[in-house]
Amino acid sequence: MKDDVRLPGEVHSFEVRLESIGGLGAHAAGQVLASAAVLRMGLNGAHFSSYGSEKKGSPVRSFVRLVPGERPIRTSAPVEAPDVIVVFHATLLRNPATFAGLRKDGTFVYNAPKGVVPEQLVALPRTARVVRVDALGISVEEKSRPNAALLGTLCGLFPFLRADDVLAALTEEFAGKHPEAVAANERAFRRGAAELEIVEGPGRAEGDLPIASSEPAWGYETQPVGGILPNPGNTAWNDLSASRAGSIPVLRTEKCIHCGVCDLVCPDFCLVWADGEPGGTFERQLMGVDYRYCKGCLRCVESCPTGALVKEPETPGLADRLRVPLFPELIA
Ligand code: SF4
Ligand code: SF4
Repeated sequence: MKDDVRLPGEVHSFEVRLESIGGLGAHAAGQVLASAAVLRMGLNGAHFSSYGSEKKGSPVRSFVRLVPGERPIRTSAPVEAPDVIVVFHATLLRNPATFAGLRKDGTFVYNAPKGVVPEQLVALPRTARVVRVDALGISVEEKSRPNAALLGTLCGLFPFLRADDVLAALTEEFAGKHPEAVAANERAFRRGAAELEIVEGPGRAEGDLPIASSEPAWGYETQPVGGILPNPGNTAWNDLSASRAGSIPVLRTEKCIHCGVCDLVCPDFCLVWADGEPGGTFERQLMGVDYRYCKGCLRCVESCPTGALVKEPETPGLADRLRVPLFPELIA
């Protein structure tokens, strides 16, 4: 039997918050990490996740708390002041709550291709360690999921998390249900550890970041009279960008016959139409896609009879460049 792991230095607990959306495997990653720590490394640990509506594309937070084996854990509260934040999808960086509570000497891992340093990272503590890894790219290439790559990244950053033990727990998690995924997960895990990049100096904040308020914006004392939603058309402010898993539909205008089949199958009404030229062939013309509302299901691509809509990898900024706004008046 291997020796039990000690937490590094004088550290009394090690707290991780995984910021994700449904479908990227944050809950499973938290479960694997905690079970590896408790069952294989002799640490004490706790793990749970909080969800919105349980569906692909909804926000998910997963919390892991590790302490030395002889110490009990007497809280099951969410991790508010984490040592590590792992962001599974770069779109989540638009939400300031994603950064909340990070310690000034903490570690911040985000999932993005090489060379991408989102401007929002300026909100991080100046002294925090910031790490980029292309977990989505790795998972697509290895036919795995981002969680396997990001677990590898965590083990690469924190050697006390023994990679062999975490990988064994990951394998055990999938061996029964999806044995075909085991080899792919191992490749993604090892690449996540090997291909991480330390990003120098994007943060400008001093000290620990403030903890997010756990109070809802509206309660029984503050809600508008009648329980109305005072922001008219508020669903138009939705942003489904985080739901996409690496691909977007792109319109090749020259091939489009404006038949409307794509509009019939799109579940989120994100195709944008305009009146055709006076006297022209088409009464209505497809102008493009409002990617703000597009969840990347690609039904439109599968249904288009002429190949005018094609699946393309979503490189950073591509959706913003190609977006045709459905509600131009909403653009700030
Ligand atoms: S289904 Fe294809 S051809 Fe028809 S309107 Fe949509 S993009 Fe154009
Ligand atoms: S991929 Fe196509 S069908 Fe799916 S939400 Fe986006 S525009 Fe609509």
